[in-house]
Amino acid sequence: MNIVRAHKLKDHFVELLRSASSQLPGDVVDALQQGFHQEDKGSPAHMAMEIILKNIELSKANSTPLCQDTGTNIWHVYHPQHICKTALEEMIRDATEEACRLSYLRANAVDPVSGLNSGNNLGLRFPVISFYEWRSSAVRASVMLKGGGCENVSTQYALPHESLQAGRDLDGVRKVVLDAVFKAQGRGCAPGIIGVGIGGDRITGMIEAKHQLWRDLADRNPVALLDKLEQRLHDECNQLGIGPMGYGGKTTVLGVKAGAIHRVPASYFVSISYMCWASRKASVTIAPSGKTTFHKRVPRSMTCNTPNCKG
Ligand code: SF4
Repeated sequence: MNIVRAHKLKDHFVELLRSASSQLPGDVVDALQQGFHQEDKGSPAHMAMEIILKNIELSKANSTPLCQDTGTNIWHVYHPQHICKTALEEMIRDATEEACRLSYLRANAVDPVSGLNSGNNLGLRFPVISFYEWRSSAVRASVMLKGGGCENVSTQYALPHESLQAGRDLDGVRKVVLDAVFKAQGRGCAPGIIGVGIGGDRITGMIEAKHQLWRDLADRNPVALLDKLEQRLHDECNQLGIGPMGYGGKTTVLGVKAGAIHRVPASYFVSISYMCWASRKASVTIAPSGKTTFHKRVPRSMTCNTPNCKG
């Protein structure tokens, strides 16, 4: 039986987009609440966090987008062997169009040559879809909505970086990440989540940085040196005093997540993907029986680089 055709995946994908657009994952809400409680009562930072949290409640209650910019839709789809990826892609595109018609998503696809908006949130390589084969017989689809404002402050450094005195090592990585977060102040809608890709080339490094944004905020990096770097950067970013929406305060970032991939001897790139507080992600698993499970915390398989991971 063709799981794609048999279980009307399009309807599940529309629901996935509604959920992603209007409800934040639990780990992000927990971190925002923690940030709210650590800001001084009555301070602009405290008020900014209060407004963010009220916005989250309202969007969830009314199934309305958390932010007017529903971003680039980034899909990761895990599928069994012998599945028709063309059919899956068609269903994702149909669901995207439908979610736009229902106002779960804004019409966000703009042709950079003509300047015309397609009007239905579809375009060339838009949405962005990646397929991964796994050994499970289920299909699991996850979507992340990545806003334009935070994408604008994402950046990339080549080490060594003379003016920052950043060498080709993890301390150099730390220095450029702090520089990027400092330069993002007032833009990108803090508190942010920082995905860092260490190594690779200019493309794979940025993919790795974005890949880190799938991780749960509460998880810990299994690589001890990267874990130490993440914890230190989390503390140091929050000492920059930028605060929620740039109003000053203690909550500049909700988390820093770093991954490392091999590089060539001549290059040492550090890629930084900045995600705003509206870190919208959702995931659904559809079993061959049709049993459908929606997850508001993205399961491990979405964050794991291991080929054929069963999640
Ligand atoms: S950066 Fe995020 S919260 Fe700010 S406008 Fe863009 S999508 Fe919305």
